[in-house]
This record gives sequence, C-alpha cells and structure tokens, in this order.
Amino acid sequence: MSLETITRRLRDAEAKAGRPAESVTLIAVSKVQPADRVDAVLQQGQRIFGENRVQEAQTRWPSFLPRFEGISLHLIGPLQTNKARAAMEMFDAIHSVDRPKLVESIARLSDEMGRCPELFVQVNTGAEPQKAGILPEDVDALIVQCRDLSLPVVGLMCIPPAEEDPAPHFEALAGMAERNGLTGLSMGMSGDFETAVAHGATHVRVGSAIFGDRVYQG
Ligand SMILES: *Cc1c(COP(=O)(O)O)cnc(C)c1O
Repeated sequence: MSLETITRRLRDAEAKAGRPAESVTLIAVSKVQPADRVDAVLQQGQRIFGENRVQEAQTRWPSFLPRFEGISLHLIGPLQTNKARAAMEMFDAIHSVDRPKLVESIARLSDEMGRCPELFVQVNTGAEPQKAGILPEDVDALIVQCRDLSLPVVGLMCIPPAEEDPAPHFEALAGMAERNGLTGLSMGMSGDFETAVAHGATHVRVGSAIFGDRVYQG
C-alpha cells in the first residue's frame, strides 16, 4: 500500500463514523524501516512519525530533521526510566507512560527542562503478562498522579491482544478516557485502524501498511 491509500482509507473511516475530516492524526510508524522508505514518505508530505525505541530514533532522525520542516516524533514503545531524558529531548509525544516511577521521572525532568511532551497513558487492556501498559484497574490513579504533578496527560493508548477482536478493547479504552475527562485515544494499527476510528481513535499508528513489511536484520 502507500501513504496515499492509507490516508484515503482514513478519511473514508472518519466520514463513515460521522467524524470531521482530518480529525484523526495519522502517525506513520517508521521503526526498523530503511532510510530510503522513510525519505520517500517524507517527500510525500507526511510529517508525523512513530518510533518504538529511543536509541533507534536517535540514530535515524538527526539527518532528516534539518531537511524537512515540521517533523513531529512520537514515542510508541516502552520507555525505561534511564532513557526518559533522551526521550523528552527528542519526542513531541510519549504514548507509553505506564507506571508511577516513570511518571515521577518525567515530572522531575519536566521541571528541570521546562518542557514536556504530550503524554498518553498506555493501558494493557488485555491484561497480558508480557505486555507493557498499566492494568485497567490502575489507570485512574496513574492519571491522577500525572495531573497532581501538572503533567500534560492528553489521552490513553492501547495495543489489543493480537489474537482477539480489537473492538471491545477500543471500546473499553474509550470508556476509561471518557470517565477521566481525556480526549486523546491512540489506538489502531495497520490491521485495525478503521475499527479504531469507528470507536473514537484520535491517533492511529500505522507502520507496515504505509512502508511495507518490516525486515528485521540478524
Ligand atoms: C509497530 C507498532 C505499530 C505499527 O504496527 P503495524 O502493524 O506495522 O501498523 C503501532 N503501534 C505500536 C505500539 C507499534 O509498536
């Protein structure tokens, strides 16, 4: 597929859901993709990108940033506390805030740096043991903690279990956001972004459908 096709499908999904055109932000997930594919998508006008590793983003983006105006980078992968500073320097949004210790670190750094990316709390909606994200029963308390520390928490993020129908997970996440007065919903990937839009996604994270399959080295 291509950026053009995905963008058209996204506009169709918005229309079908009765939502305004361009109300959903497309995050092009460039992790692991070769530089020439990322370059091509930048040439086509895309400016918002998702990466799941701080270190990979640090090697990839410094060469692109001076060449294209208005690039915005979103961290969508798990964040270790010792990488929080680097992440806050590089990213405009962090979608993987998922534990009190990380919130404390971000708050401390935010005071020190005088700025903070927009934050999404990642929820492990399927309560999968191997998956990052806070458990649904603990999400309200984490949001309160963010707010008590004056952090810019804007929404929730989830990655539904691979083998399940994603719709109930999207619905559950939307419910958690609503009861907490949060408007951002980061949900939906290549295989299910239209379903996510139907359930209120404000940010979809699409990788392989734009760039092609990821080829892992080694
Ligand atoms: C890799 C990744 C995506 C994109 O996945 P695709 O299936 O390639 O669209 C979205 N969100 C997260 C958190 C990811 O790690």
